[in-house]
Amino acid sequence: MVALPDVANLIGGQEAPARTGAWLEKLRPADESLLCRVARSGAEDVAQAVAAARDAQPAWAERTAVARGDVVRELALRLRERREEASAIVEAETGKPAELALGETDAAVEMGLFVAGEGRRSYGRTTTASMANRTVLTMRQPLGVAALIMSFNTPLPNVAWKAFPAVFCGNAAVVKPSEHAPASASFFAGLALEAGVPAGVLNVVQGVGEEAGAPLVEHPGVDLVSFTGSAATGRSINEAAARRLAKTCLELGGKNALVVCDDADLDGATRWALASAFSNAGQRCASASRIVVLDSVYEDFRERLLGGLASLDPQPVISRESMDRILAAVERARDDGTVVLAGGTRLDRAGWFVAPTVLEGASAGDEISRTELFGPVTVLYRCGSLDDAIALVNDSPYGLTAAIHTASLHRAMRFAERVQAGVVVVNAGTHGSEPHMGFGGVKDSGTGWREAGIEALDVYSDSKVVNLVVDPAKA
Ligand code: NAD
Repeated sequence: MVALPDVANLIGGQEAPARTGAWLEKLRPADESLLCRVARSGAEDVAQAVAAARDAQPAWAERTAVARGDVVRELALRLRERREEASAIVEAETGKPAELALGETDAAVEMGLFVAGEGRRSYGRTTTASMANRTVLTMRQPLGVAALIMSFNTPLPNVAWKAFPAVFCGNAAVVKPSEHAPASASFFAGLALEAGVPAGVLNVVQGVGEEAGAPLVEHPGVDLVSFTGSAATGRSINEAAARRLAKTCLELGGKNALVVCDDADLDGATRWALASAFSNAGQRCASASRIVVLDSVYEDFRERLLGGLASLDPQPVISRESMDRILAAVERARDDGTVVLAGGTRLDRAGWFVAPTVLEGASAGDEISRTELFGPVTVLYRCGSLDDAIALVNDSPYGLTAAIHTASLHRAMRFAERVQAGVVVVNAGTHGSEPHMGFGGVKDSGTGWREAGIEALDVYSDSKVVNLVVDPAKA
């Protein structure tokens, strides 16, 4: 079992405890034992980190995109070299299986390699002009200092998706990791220093949201707030950042639906439904927390799904509060008449394990249908037709991802066109993003930006239009 040292802040290339000397205790989700202490930072630490970032940013932005891409590549390669070590930290602080932690580390590496390649692309546009002898082109400009605030669920990809493009685009950044996954972000930032990211370009301020995150959002020295987390926090961040007109990119929650049609391969649909609903203990923004099944295969599918639960490798949720919140929501649903087909209880072992839970009989308007639980809980719904299924899927505050299982191209395309989601998957799970694919959602799932892909460059840079006017007489 990894024992971790205290996790401090990283400001201007120096490790430092919080100015007040306060620490948080981070417990292991798998057995509730103490994993490490974490700097409990506040506004003073944030101000110091923003100042360090502002100092470091201009010289970093002076480097060419190719040179910044080279540093990003070096960081990605170092992360690949130390993937076992990085994954062990992720495993300890989240309780997820080693294989999953390794896969996530590799995904973070791939994001770095993808972004590094942009050093030799970073294409702009040239365009026409109504005036003769005028050439118009665009170039990317860094924004300045980016606040990167994130969730705990896939800690290394979460930091990688933001830090790689933020830094590559010539910004300096202040990362505020989740208080539930502090160590992997600090490991990443330490590696960044070793890889040649200059001191002050990537800073980390640890702590809880209201104490360390809120002052970061409000700091006038922060030009961009890029946030991944819940819709409730995102809303308050958006309000605070809007007061000073800061650019804000929000990647928020989901209540993602997987639709099973009556012509679906039911084995495949079951396998994907189990993976989508329960992997990472349902702590995925893209998890399938709603499964919509067409009438004639409903009983058959339900039996297969319930039968598959025994094959799952249980994984804890991140905290006791999370576990209690999830179980309480299931209890309220049961009180409201929703049927608990499986789970709904804590597993009888140390750690914060919620039994994989399957419910049925809820209506689209019920709390259990509309609230993201971020746990291993999914609700089955029965529908008479594809159009009814699409209407049910869209009857949600969220619109992040959606999947359909069908053998029909016609049904798949109708679903893809009509479903309100940022990502649609045919015949697989509700997740499946890759570094070159823009990821994000509609409605309460985000503010329309896309992370990853070259779309991420639009988050972390401004586009400047340059007009070049020549005089042919002087040629
Ligand atoms: P959360 O909103 O509680 O916390 C996210 C981060 O915000 C943490 O670092 C937290 O400390 C910080 N924070 C909390 N209050 C703050 C405040 N007032 N000001 C500034 N920062 C504050 O979310 P969580 O429980 O860590 O994560 C779960 C949520 O994240 C789910 O809704 C999930 O769907 C979402 N998520 C979305 C994506 C995506 O790409 N769309 C990816 C992963 C997770």
